[in-house]
Amino acid sequence: MTNYQELGVQPVINAYATVTKFGGSLMPEEVVSAMNAAAGAFVDLAQLQARVGERIAQLTGNEAAYVTSGAAAGIMLASAASVLYHHPGAARDFPNLADLKHEAIIMRTQRNPYDFAAQQVGLKLVEIDPEPSALSEAINDKTACIFWFPCRLAGEGDLSLAEVIEIAKRRDIPVIVDAAAQLPPVENLSRFTEMGAALALFSGGKDLRGPQPTGMMLGRRDFIESIRPLSNPNHGLGRPLKVGKEELMGLLAAVERYLLIDHEARAQYCEDCVTLWGAAINALDGVQAARDFPNEAGQPLAWCRVTVDGELMGATADDLVAAFLAHDPAIAVSPGDERHFHLNPMTLNPGEEFIVRDACLQILQK
Ligand SMILES: *Cc1c(COP(=O)(O)O)cnc(C)c1O
Repeated sequence: MTNYQELGVQPVINAYATVTKFGGSLMPEEVVSAMNAAAGAFVDLAQLQARVGERIAQLTGNEAAYVTSGAAAGIMLASAASVLYHHPGAARDFPNLADLKHEAIIMRTQRNPYDFAAQQVGLKLVEIDPEPSALSEAINDKTACIFWFPCRLAGEGDLSLAEVIEIAKRRDIPVIVDAAAQLPPVENLSRFTEMGAALALFSGGKDLRGPQPTGMMLGRRDFIESIRPLSNPNHGLGRPLKVGKEELMGLLAAVERYLLIDHEARAQYCEDCVTLWGAAINALDGVQAARDFPNEAGQPLAWCRVTVDGELMGATADDLVAAFLAHDPAIAVSPGDERHFHLNPMTLNPGEEFIVRDACLQILQK
């Protein structure tokens, strides 16, 4: 069996985040075994998708759930569901929606690289200023849905989700929350839908540590049922967004595991890493480490912010980020600006924090 090294591809220690470009997250043993078991038998895929959905809905405290091929695929399917909510017979019209309700309202401050997925379905993004009056005025007879992106993506002064839902509800417009990276805290699995979002979208391959190409759509049963006929294994808009039996069972195992792990111990591990790295880095000249909170996507875990004195170091923060990646073993750290980068413990295997510390001592010696 050919491995990464034989292909000339170096494994990377991930002190960056659950970023897709370095593989999202690592699947724990429970997930790998579930996928292995699933790989050994044929099954009725539609039935399996339905049963896994019921089980995930139950576990997460939602009315319904659907496994998607990632949160970005979830944006596509949720966009489709919002159109089908207003036009139940429109399954074959995607992406030509000009005569239908096809506008998705989004706050200017929340535009992001993932919202393109809504446009692929045929929705037109309508940008508004983050003001209640702007939202009320933007809703018209072409409005299909409103998107809301939480935390780091949501800029200061944005309308809160509660405010958005309040306005949307009066006009019967579904609100879709892209919560791809909003785990932990585990409570978020039900928080957004309990608040009244029609659907909340999560990545399976980020902190859940399910298969990298999975995600979940959680929320209203009528919305989820509406996309089933046009999704894998059926034909239509959702067919190219296929998830297999292995991904379905792997993601279910990941959710089961996630509800059982000790989240406090995990938060403490992150604190301990930050303390360890801080002590090592702050003994050096030209760099300074400090605890930062919350982390990359606003998750409530500590991470370590490193400030670089470019003159003393003769290097920018970006040069150092590159040096970590060129190190043996390769370490991905989180880039910031010219003077800052972050070390993130959230994606480390226990023990790797010492490898990261030793790399800091080598690389950050000016
Ligand atoms: C990661 C991310 C996505 C994409 O999730 P995938 O599961 O990789 O498709 C979408 N939106 C946001 C805000 C994200 O952070």
